[in-house]
Amino acid sequence: MIDTVPNPSEHNQWYPFANRPVPPRHDQQPINPAVVPVFDAVRLPESARFVVVGAGVHGLSSAYHLAMYLERSGKGKGSDVVLIDKQGPGAGATGLACGCVRNLYMTEPLHAIVRASVEVWESDPVNFGFQQVGYVSVGEANQESDYVQLQASQAASGYPSDLYVGADARAFLTGLWPDFKTDNCDVVLHELRSGYAGTHMAVWGLDQKCHQWGVQRVYGASVNGYTRDASGSVTAVETDQGAIACEQVVVGAGAWTPQHWEWLGGPTQIDVGYPDGHVEPSVDMWTYWRLLEGEVLLPEGVDFRTANHRDSPVLHVELMNTPVYDQDNNWLKDNFYSYVRYAAERVGAPGLQGGTIPVKIGPKAAVEPYGHLNDEYQAEDWFADYYCATLGMLFKRFENLRPYFKERRNGGIGAFTPDNVPVFDHIADNAWVIADSNHGFKMIGVGKLTAKMLVYGQKPDELKPFGLGRYSTNGAFGDRNSHCPWV
Ligand SMILES: Cc1cc2nc3c(=O)[nH]c(=O)nc-3n(C[C@H](O)[C@H](O)[C@H](O)COP(=O)(O)OP(=O)(O)OC[C@H]3O[C@@H](n4cnc5c(N)ncnc54)[C@H](O)[C@@H]3O)c2cc1C
Repeated sequence: MIDTVPNPSEHNQWYPFANRPVPPRHDQQPINPAVVPVFDAVRLPESARFVVVGAGVHGLSSAYHLAMYLERSGKGKGSDVVLIDKQGPGAGATGLACGCVRNLYMTEPLHAIVRASVEVWESDPVNFGFQQVGYVSVGEANQESDYVQLQASQAASGYPSDLYVGADARAFLTGLWPDFKTDNCDVVLHELRSGYAGTHMAVWGLDQKCHQWGVQRVYGASVNGYTRDASGSVTAVETDQGAIACEQVVVGAGAWTPQHWEWLGGPTQIDVGYPDGHVEPSVDMWTYWRLLEGEVLLPEGVDFRTANHRDSPVLHVELMNTPVYDQDNNWLKDNFYSYVRYAAERVGAPGLQGGTIPVKIGPKAAVEPYGHLNDEYQAEDWFADYYCATLGMLFKRFENLRPYFKERRNGGIGAFTPDNVPVFDHIADNAWVIADSNHGFKMIGVGKLTAKMLVYGQKPDELKPFGLGRYSTNGAFGDRNSHCPWV
């Protein structure tokens, strides 16, 4: 057994509420460490039936469910599954996500993915840190027909929500929060099963479950390639600690997906065909975006509770035609996009966490060091002003929050697909890639669906719409009326 993995950054991720100092300089590039203490990890075995690469939400969930289904079905043992991460659980986006769990998508097949995922969150809310507070999204009149369509599609996929329009929408908002300023708020969707999860708790819970079901967890081994036979099948995963022969690979590599994709022979550019018949030629398979997020402490006497003294739902507001001004009436931006959730577990005191629309980088990005450690991906100064201004425009109680913005390192990047919708597919006959286009913390159920497919042999319906083949058959998604790539 090994209990520790290298942490050249000397950066302690286990206490998210502490400040995040700039890491000391090292000859080697600092590396983002695991977000939970590593325990009972093992050395790399020579072979395994299943090798799962990456201990983020998808790798952890895949490994846990694979081990569980193998044991329960008698088709194998939990120890047939080897999970490899170059650092440890949560060292990528999963360890620093905002943790919002919602089903607000114009891409209808995602509703079933999120429903299947919320079933996993609901299966052990305590150990996954899942707070089922609900999710309230608010739009202007130009989004009304989208919300109507979205609610019908959510209901059809077994995920009911409540829709309010016009005066009813405004009454719903002030009923929930009496100091809510309803200007330009014309339509509201309330998802009762949604909420948020504390990311470190979720990572801890998933890692524990992998351990309990007998997964061999190899932390501190870096994959540096895949050996493939003449037909393209993977015969071994190569690491800096040697090779591991395997029958089946699952890749959940988050922002590192483009590198693994290339090693597995995936295309770097593809033609993308849309349902209206138009085809965009030679589109980059992966485009990096960086996320703009931050945290705000709540001043003495200010809370984020509802009129009934309950924890607030996660709130998401996009007002596409409403400019944002600060308290002194200075114009900041010509549209409004903001999300917020209560985040004491993150901030270390009563506080809020949220953000706005991410910023496009391009097909290449410096992935190391990941997340908070990377100077290149810290939000610019305008973000704190903008974010606090949006909160003040929504709530009387949140006016003048700017001095309470938690000035510390934040951020992270993600690899997006050509239509910003996940790709879940085999890149070789025995190599399954979970590429969530960087909105998949909530999609914890994809690992469960993946495990079902690999143990029982049939692809679940929920996964079928997300194959790579959609781009060559005019099935690309992307029909959305939003400034944000994730709606
Ligand atoms: C700031 C931010 C906020 C977000 N907020 C939300 C949100 O509110 N809701 C939501 O649903 N989504 C959110 N997301 C997106 C979500 O966090 C990611 O989509 C999801 O966590 C990705 O999970 P993953 O398992 O694919 O990858 P990751 O969590 O990145 O894990 C990949 C793992 O693979 C390992 N790895 C990579 N390469 C190798 C290698 N060569 N060898 C060994 N190991 C390797 C890494 O060390 C890492 O631990 C957010 C993302 C960011 C950056």
